[in-house]
Amino acid sequence: MIGAAQNGPLVTLWGTRGSIATPGSDTAHYGGNTACVEVCYREKRIILDAGTGIRELGKQIPQTDGHNEFHLFLSHTHWDHIQGFPFFLPAYNPANTIHFYGSHNKEAKLEKILTGQMHQSYFPVQMQDLPAQMYFHELTDQPLIIGDLQIQAQEQVYHPGGSLRFRVSAGKATVVYASDVEIDGICEAAPNTPEARQFAAYCRFIANADLLIADAQYTREDYATRKGWGHSSFETVIETATRAGVKHLAMFHHDPDNTDNIINEFEQYYASTAPDIAVFWAREGTTIPLA
Ligand SMILES: [Zn+2]
Ligand SMILES: [Zn+2]
Repeated sequence: MIGAAQNGPLVTLWGTRGSIATPGSDTAHYGGNTACVEVCYREKRIILDAGTGIRELGKQIPQTDGHNEFHLFLSHTHWDHIQGFPFFLPAYNPANTIHFYGSHNKEAKLEKILTGQMHQSYFPVQMQDLPAQMYFHELTDQPLIIGDLQIQAQEQVYHPGGSLRFRVSAGKATVVYASDVEIDGICEAAPNTPEARQFAAYCRFIANADLLIADAQYTREDYATRKGWGHSSFETVIETATRAGVKHLAMFHHDPDNTDNIINEFEQYYASTAPDIAVFWAREGTTIPLA
C-alpha cells in the first residue's frame, strides 16, 4: 500500500530519466536527472544506481553527521547509472563508508570501471583519492541483509551488456527496481525457449510487488523502431505488471525526448486504459511511502 501512516519504507526518486540527463524547463516536472532511487527503512538506507540524481541525494546528507554508511547497488555501468558518483559528496568525507554492489559476472570490472570514469582525462579527482572508505561486493543468488532490508538481485539478459534487477523487502512491503531491460523482445516467446524462461523469471521476480519501478521508455509504436536497444514499451510493462499482481507501477527511465507535456499525456491516457493497476510516471524528487 502506498500512502499510509509512516513506519514503513520510504522510496525516494532522485533521478528518473534514461540515457542522458535532460535539464531544462520542458523536463522540470518529471525531472532531468538520470537513474537514482533511495530506499530508507529503520535507520538503514540503500541506493539503487548512481545516475546524476545521486548528486542531489548526497547534498541532503548532513556532512557533519559523523560516520555514515552507504550501500550503493549498481544495476550496470552505463553512463546514466554511474555518472553522478564523482559528484556524490559523502565520498569526500573520510568518516564515511561506501559499499558498492554489482553483478557477480562483472564484479572484477566494477571497481575498474568506476575508477576509469574518474581517470584524469575525464575528471579532476581520482577514485583512489576519495577519502571515504570504499568496498566492492559481488552479488550472488542469495539475498543480502542490511539491517531490516533484504535485497535480492537477478541478472537481466535483455539489455546490451546485461543489467541487474533488485527486489527489496522491508517489513511487509516490497519494492522492485527493474530498469534497463527489454521485455518486449521476450514476452511472446515460444514455450521452453531461453526467452520464455527469462520472461517467466521476470514475472516471478516482480510478482505482487507493492511498487514496481520499471523500465518503460517507449510507446509500443516507438518501440517498433528501437528493437534491441534494451528498453521496454509502456503497453508491455503495464500488461505484464498487471498480470503479476503488482499494486503500484512507476514508469521509469524516461526517454530524453519526452517532455513534461508528452509524459502528462501518456499518464492520462494509460491510467485510463489500465484500470487494474495504479500506473504513474516516476517524478524526480518524489518520496513514496510504503506501508
Ligand atoms: Zn539506463
Ligand atoms: Zn543501460
